[in-house]
Amino acid sequence: MTRDGELSFRDSVDLMFNRAVRLMDLSPGLEQKIRVCNSTYTVRFGVRLRGKIETFTGYRSVHSEHMEPVKGGIRYALSVNQNEVEALAALMTYKCALVETPFGGSKGGLCIDPRAWDEHELELITRRFAYELIKRDLIHPAQNVPAPDMGTGEREMAWIADQYKRMNTTDINGNACVTGKPTYAGGIQGRVEATGRGVQYALQEFFRHPEDKAKAGLTGGLQGKRVIVQGLGNVGYHAAKFLSEEDGCIITAIIERDGALQCDTGLNVEEVHQWMAKQGTIQGYPSAAFVEDGTYLLEADCDILIPAAMEGVIHKDNAANIKAPLIIEAANGPVTFGADEILRTKGVVIIPDMYANAGGVTVSYFEWVKNLSHIRFGRMQRRAEEARSRLLVEELERLSADQDLGWTLAPGFKDKFLTGSDELALVRSGLEDTMRTAYQAMRKVWHERDDVDDLRTAAYIVSISRVATAYRSKAL
Ligand code: GLU
Repeated sequence: MTRDGELSFRDSVDLMFNRAVRLMDLSPGLEQKIRVCNSTYTVRFGVRLRGKIETFTGYRSVHSEHMEPVKGGIRYALSVNQNEVEALAALMTYKCALVETPFGGSKGGLCIDPRAWDEHELELITRRFAYELIKRDLIHPAQNVPAPDMGTGEREMAWIADQYKRMNTTDINGNACVTGKPTYAGGIQGRVEATGRGVQYALQEFFRHPEDKAKAGLTGGLQGKRVIVQGLGNVGYHAAKFLSEEDGCIITAIIERDGALQCDTGLNVEEVHQWMAKQGTIQGYPSAAFVEDGTYLLEADCDILIPAAMEGVIHKDNAANIKAPLIIEAANGPVTFGADEILRTKGVVIIPDMYANAGGVTVSYFEWVKNLSHIRFGRMQRRAEEARSRLLVEELERLSADQDLGWTLAPGFKDKFLTGSDELALVRSGLEDTMRTAYQAMRKVWHERDDVDDLRTAAYIVSISRVATAYRSKAL
């Protein structure tokens, strides 16, 4: 539902796109070709459940096929609609271009409350939905590769992969038809936490640049920064956990659908997460104050605000009250176009969604490559790397003993140096490199162009110019 006087999510994305293309030198024809959503397939299908036929409505939208396969998650929520799926597909196009994953943009959704059905029922529904998409090549390793999104996870992706393989028994690349699978079913280490990890790497990179921090009026590093997180789902949970446990951030509030928890000295994210998993609610959590009107805390004082749930939570009515000088959009589209305009004039720095939450699709890319190459990353090199390191350490120890130099290696050095990179270490390294490189491309435009005064417009300019380049050599 659109708020009064607020544009739809799709219009919001289009206006942000327009704001950027106005500053670019594209032909109107190419501009329009990039803007439009190529196709949206709507399917209504029935499943026999609890003694009657239930009809479900699902979508798979393809925004841009300048590169194939197209990529993007499948969302399960009652609020799913065509407008939303198309906006999310467009964001996937720009996101993939920004982080240089070789994909076009797509997104899917099913109108369903996943909590209303038990596991066996959800499997029947998911397989039926997947069947409809697979038979139209809307799930296919070379054409369209879904992944998890809100309301879906590893379990659903495993069902989808299995359904595809049942329908394509001779496709040796069948596992690459979907990403975000559990590792036992062809997934990759580090995918579950990838989006949250990407948010952490994005903030670490932002804080490496004094001029960027200065634009938000911030100084120092992440240590001690007060952070408010909205949404403790997969993305919000991992981002908050890593930032608090590894970077010394203080999580002063966690906002959930049924209220919020507040604690100025810092919440223990893992404890809150476990409480929620057991109780199904944050209410009753003993070590923090409970605030019934949680959304009000979006406006509370903090250094960094992380909206990590869904679109449109920061809108025209609350934007002026936001106190955070820095917002990082872990969710897709959490700031509406109207709110974005208000926040920009207030000088709030926004690290935009298409960059901030791109960790998920980045590691999905690694998973897809792993599936196509049929070998785990690091399997060939890891022990060879360890053997070379061991040679060096043994030589150092021999020299020290022979020459009576009395050298001793620092405690822990040997273990660390002698451990070759396993799949998780390689995934993290690839993700960190991706997040750092993409940030630098974005900030270059932000700082070098006088007509660009925000990171979102800079991100759009980088992405759109890459998509435009891809179209230049393509038959339309
Ligand atoms: N649903 C995630 C997103 O919005 C991941 C997409 C993917 O891995 O393909 O970026």
